[in-house]
Amino acid sequence: MNKFLGYECSLCGKKYAPEEVTYTCPADGGNLNVLLDYEAIKEKYQPDDITCRTETSLWRYLPLLPVSNPGGEETPLYAAGWTPTYALPKLAEKLGLDNLWLKDESSNPTASFKDRASAILVARAKEIGAEVIVTASTGNAGAALAGMSAAVGQKSVIFAPKTAPVAKIAQLLVFGAEVMLVDGTYDDSVELAVKAANEFGWYCRNTGYNPFTVEGKKTAAFEIWEWSLKALGENDKPLTVFVSVGDGNIISGIHKGFKDLEKLGWLKQMPRIIGVQAEGSAAIANAYNAGTEEIAAISATTSADSISVDMPSDGVRALRAATETNGQYVLVNDDAIIASIAELGQVGVFAEPAGATAYAGLAEAISKGVVNRDDPVLVLNTGSGLKDVNAALKAVSEAPIIAPTLEAVKENL
Ligand SMILES: *Cc1c(COP(=O)(O)O)cnc(C)c1O
Ligand SMILES: [Zn+2]
Repeated sequence: MNKFLGYECSLCGKKYAPEEVTYTCPADGGNLNVLLDYEAIKEKYQPDDITCRTETSLWRYLPLLPVSNPGGEETPLYAAGWTPTYALPKLAEKLGLDNLWLKDESSNPTASFKDRASAILVARAKEIGAEVIVTASTGNAGAALAGMSAAVGQKSVIFAPKTAPVAKIAQLLVFGAEVMLVDGTYDDSVELAVKAANEFGWYCRNTGYNPFTVEGKKTAAFEIWEWSLKALGENDKPLTVFVSVGDGNIISGIHKGFKDLEKLGWLKQMPRIIGVQAEGSAAIANAYNAGTEEIAAISATTSADSISVDMPSDGVRALRAATETNGQYVLVNDDAIIASIAELGQVGVFAEPAGATAYAGLAEAISKGVVNRDDPVLVLNTGSGLKDVNAALKAVSEAPIIAPTLEAVKENL
């Protein structure tokens, strides 16, 4: 069954056939939404046909994806997605919530949410016969692309700012990608990747530029939907989902996933989506607060490197993820982000700064009255704390160094 019908521009609404365009709208540069044949999918599948599948990766949603099965079922591609969701009763109590859950994306093969996008991208690259995939990255998108590419013998080239956390750079190198560290910002790397793709005929994965990244990221919404069928039961309040936002592609992907399910008639109720940005990287939240879809570039300064973006590549759709779901944008400062790493650590969750940002946003949203006690809340942790141990060490006090004696232990207890 050919489910992939083409694209629709998120700005002007113009439609394109699959072979007509590759990245953004030629007319206005708008992000392209992938169009699926919802009627054909509906005719062939019921929700049960999906939820009864035994595949424990994002490939269980293959009937709702615009790519075919990439083959090689024993590769890390088949470990992307299907991440765990935990209840956090202690933190719920502390925040005054009845129900709080965390979906932990750090369990993806390269330890961040980005594996979802890269798994689909690598499958797409195979379909169109791309020899080399290139991406700009603050680190995680590159690590995900490098890892997924290595798994299937695909060549990849990564441009990351030279300031990226060392663990992320180590991942890129270990996966054997062609890595170039850019003496500039993430936004400089983005521009460079587009230029290099044009010059050398490479396939560009850049977040929010390549329409297939959202198609991978939407699988998190499918998982939340499947989980909620059981976890929320008869609760008729909409689920409130907290997502950290840089380029705005994760939040757009989650919105797209829920919209796909809505079009299929499978979604009981659209969740509210809350975007959380760092005060030092707030281009999308600024537009939200100004009530406009005109996103103005800023000069990003946050230490949460994965969400440090001057000009978001998926800003308009990211805004709509909040405005069209009765959601919001909230801002948190870097101190609150670092403190959230420690708070999540206290309940056994290890998050990198951008991963802890969504949780920091929850506390902020509660203080603003955006979330009430009886709202069911789900927070995403988008990346592992092992990605940036220097940030993690800022969240805690130092361990004492002691003599190997019981006296020393007693003195320090
Ligand atoms: C990329 C990333 C984000 C933000 O995603 P955007 O699509 O840029 O908004 C958040 N957290 C982590 C860990 C990431 O790697
Ligand atoms: Zn357009």
